[in-house]
Amino acid sequence: MDVSQTIFEEYTDDLGPEKIIHIYEPVARLRAIVVIDNAAAGPAIGGVRMAPDITTTEIRRLARAMTLKNAAAGLPHGGGKAGIIADPKTVDKECFIRTFARAIESLHDYTPGPDMGTDESCMAYIFDEIKRAVGLPRVLGGIPLDEIGATGFGIAECAEVAKEYIDMDLNGARLVIEGFGNVGKNVARFLEEKGVILVAASDTSGTVHNKNGIDVSGLIRAKKEKGSVVYYEDAEKLKTEDLLTIPGDIFVPAARPDVIDERNVGTLDTKLVLQGANIAITTGAEKALHERGVLSVPDFIANAGGVIAAAVEHRHGSEKEAFSEIKSKIRANTKKILDRTYSEGLYPRDAAEIIAKERVLSAMSYRGCI
Ligand code: NAD
Repeated sequence: MDVSQTIFEEYTDDLGPEKIIHIYEPVARLRAIVVIDNAAAGPAIGGVRMAPDITTTEIRRLARAMTLKNAAAGLPHGGGKAGIIADPKTVDKECFIRTFARAIESLHDYTPGPDMGTDESCMAYIFDEIKRAVGLPRVLGGIPLDEIGATGFGIAECAEVAKEYIDMDLNGARLVIEGFGNVGKNVARFLEEKGVILVAASDTSGTVHNKNGIDVSGLIRAKKEKGSVVYYEDAEKLKTEDLLTIPGDIFVPAARPDVIDERNVGTLDTKLVLQGANIAITTGAEKALHERGVLSVPDFIANAGGVIAAAVEHRHGSEKEAFSEIKSKIRANTKKILDRTYSEGLYPRDAAEIIAKERVLSAMSYRGCI
């Protein structure tokens, strides 16, 4: 079968994707993928990821997650995502990002934001080239999403609502975080303010565990100054994969897609999962958690804080407005999907998708051909 036929038959559905673009720039040897999944509600917003092992399938699935996330949050934006296939630690990042920006200049229905492997500086290079990016540094009028911890703040707000459905007290609850990066460290910071105790955290170099509690600011310092959580002193050092067996009350996956699947979900010992990373848990694993009575709040509900702040920046709003909008939208959405989950006997993801899809289809109805 021809490759384009495969793409149309296997990858498209009632929402999209509208565009899958592969970019190759032979001078810089830049290879990148952009997927605009659905732009019915407005120009698509989604992060630019930089990693050596990115695939079209990963970017397509992440773009769909953005469509659902933006719709669920009621933002006037569709969903898209981009991936630059390169190791952010070894390439000339500014050159790659500027080349990428020039290549997407004519894609007016896609506004890039930061994601794994890119940051505020990268968004500033893109803005300098094409005057279109969110998550800019403050000096350029932006709301620096990672610096303020927008996504981590939203996940902590999600916890405040979710805890009511499983009768959990956040004060003293034990937290386990997979992937102590921008999302992971900020979740730890905002949940610590609510009395939650971080007992374990991981990154690609290993895991640290202390059942009596890890000092969040000390762990952030160790990661920043020495490059990994394993340099935090007051904890037991384990392998990265050992994290999944550590008992806790709240588990936050904040690393890569599909890290929890049907094979390893049985090792998770937790009561509440707040999905920080996008598509971190396979559908089968999510269902297994639900059957065991573990509440798992889907990614596009729990981790929408970053894109809500990006949408506020896009309309030239302030940082204060961003925090207030993240709090109100994430609290309301978490309640809405969990009410529906428990009253209609649905899986949380199904309840969330029903609500998000209704909004996308309603926006699409104004296009005049459905
Ligand atoms: P980041 O690069 O700052 O941090 C990721 C961390 O995960 C790093 O410390 C890395 O060492 C670690 N990691 C990678 N693979 C791992 C593995 N297999 N096991 C344990 N640790 C691993 O990235 P980030 O911005 O924190 O984003 C993390 C995830 O959250 C991504 O999936 C991203 O798409 C998603 N997300 C981010 C935001 C945001 O505002 N930054 C918003 C929504 C969703």
